[in-house]
Amino acid sequence: MKCPLVLLLATALLLAGCGGRPKIRGASAPPDDARAYRQCMAEFGKLDVKIDPLPDRNFASGCSATHAVKLVAIGIPVTNLGAMKCMTALPFTLWVRDTVTRQAQAILGKPVVKIESFGTFACRPKNGVKGADLSEHGRANAVDISAFVLQGGQRITVLKDWNGPDPKARAFLRAVHQAACRRFSVVLGPDANAYHRDHLHFDMGKGPYCR
Ligand SMILES: [Zn+2]
Repeated sequence: MKCPLVLLLATALLLAGCGGRPKIRGASAPPDDARAYRQCMAEFGKLDVKIDPLPDRNFASGCSATHAVKLVAIGIPVTNLGAMKCMTALPFTLWVRDTVTRQAQAILGKPVVKIESFGTFACRPKNGVKGADLSEHGRANAVDISAFVLQGGQRITVLKDWNGPDPKARAFLRAVHQAACRRFSVVLGPDANAYHRDHLHFDMGKGPYCR
């Protein structure tokens, strides 16, 4: 019975990570659904937007950006957008075009001319906490929104205005946060935890979770 022991040892050595790469728990992404991607791209084809499909990328650390697109023009300019899975980019586009546009007009009485984001793809664990599961950002499956610039220059930020003195800004942030919960699997804002005091996080991972 020497062989199984040798095998066990070899396996243990392999698992120990010969390359010495940082390991992130839960890094194995579920297999992507090619059909869902085709449907998603077809939906985008019906919208008056400009997107660029991106080549699939897989990283040694377990991160990936597959079935991803770059949003080039979706009605309102959004800063810092990188690779986004089509299945996340589509609800995000609709949130920008429909939700943000409508709520800005209804609550603030003027249009949003720019949306600021902290980005989409980032290969890191959840909340940047070492040893935590891979963030949906590591799969290009999430986006973080930090601020809205209105016509005339007023800038509404999640950090200053979520609990700030301007009731309209507070109402607007809560309205776009709440509406995002109908479009995304997971929505996190300042009421979720301190990590999200300065941005709204949207992702299409395991949900639903809305806070
Ligand atoms: Zn995030």
